[in-house]
Amino acid sequence: MDYFKEFPDEKGFFGEYGGSFVPPELQVEMDKITDAYYTISKSHDFINELRSIRKHFQGRPTPVYYCKNLSEICGGRIYLKREDLNHTGAHKLNHCMGEGLLAKYMGKKKLIAETGAGQHGVALATAAAYFGLECEIHMGEVDIAKEHPNVVRMKLLGAKVVPVTHGLKTLKEAVDSAFDAYLKDPVNSIYCIGSVVGPHPFPMMVRDFQHVVGVEAREQFIEMTGELPDAVTACVGGGSNSIGIFSGFIKDSDVELYGVEPAGRSLKIGDHACSLSYGKPGILHGFKSYLLQDEKGNPEPVYSIASGLDYPGSGPEHCMLKDTGRVKYVTADDKECLEAFYKLSRKEGIIPALESSHAVAYGMKYAKENKRKSILVNLSGRGDKDIDFVVDNYGTGEEFL
Ligand SMILES: *Cc1c(COP(=O)(O)O)cnc(C)c1O
Repeated sequence: MDYFKEFPDEKGFFGEYGGSFVPPELQVEMDKITDAYYTISKSHDFINELRSIRKHFQGRPTPVYYCKNLSEICGGRIYLKREDLNHTGAHKLNHCMGEGLLAKYMGKKKLIAETGAGQHGVALATAAAYFGLECEIHMGEVDIAKEHPNVVRMKLLGAKVVPVTHGLKTLKEAVDSAFDAYLKDPVNSIYCIGSVVGPHPFPMMVRDFQHVVGVEAREQFIEMTGELPDAVTACVGGGSNSIGIFSGFIKDSDVELYGVEPAGRSLKIGDHACSLSYGKPGILHGFKSYLLQDEKGNPEPVYSIASGLDYPGSGPEHCMLKDTGRVKYVTADDKECLEAFYKLSRKEGIIPALESSHAVAYGMKYAKENKRKSILVNLSGRGDKDIDFVVDNYGTGEEFL
């Protein structure tokens, strides 16, 4: 059976993960979105409009690039899928334009979402401006301080930024806050999740919208080299950029797939966010996934140098792919991430997002250990948003080069 028809099942499960664990009043809305998505996403108008937006507004296809200098240093062959060149500087616009278009077809007036690093907020505010919709973005106060340029961008794009002041004041609390706001007016608004997480149909919908990354990359890689890559890697927060590129290669059983989780400062509780590597199955934000949790099932605090990766759960499809072994989940810590950040900047002239730097770090490691092999790294975003934070805290990185 076709992988994409089989997963998720009609209830939104990927194996035992995913589903929809929400109060009845929210389930009614999720069912409406699911029905609308199944109908609308198959219509020619929708498909054609999305295709046109990707080409003329987003600047797709994004290139695949061979990192000659970095490959010479490491040994193997390292390639990048340049999602950093997507309009707004990250892969997130791929699903935001899809969600915005769906909202338009459903007659919604307002897009509501949370944001971590601010990338999803900027991408959604961009989609809202494009479609002429209102936009409300919930963001933890810690992230607001850390990601100032993205906060300014959202405001310029016309979005209302709602600061979240409880708990750790980061991504998890922002999700709670955005859900609450959505439930106050589900008729006129639509909740646009920022990754392949949350209740059904979001993990499926966001995967489908990100699938374009993998489809393009596979075609481009074959055109460039005449063969498939030996391995593909991407960082995993919620898991949208990784599922996007992995889904293009999932049926190519010879292609190794590596999801990279953020090992942060240490493997102590609160110092990392490796939910697939160290979590246990549990339920958070309306879906079942591997979760970093205490004995009572409450989510544990998480941390990563990359705000976009500090989430205690993970997309349900990743959980299934971990159990089946089709994808291997590995880790990169803050130090490896920084080294990759500085190396890619200095050796290739590409400043990567700190999130993406985790994947670059694994790409470099793989290249060193597999000198005859090729690895395709999904460069999920550009690092402009991170440069002040990095330079203020770690300098220009001479010791890493
Ligand atoms: C948000 C973000 C991520 C993490 O989100 P996923 O859903 O795991 O892809 C990774 N890279 C960048 C640049 C981001 O903005």
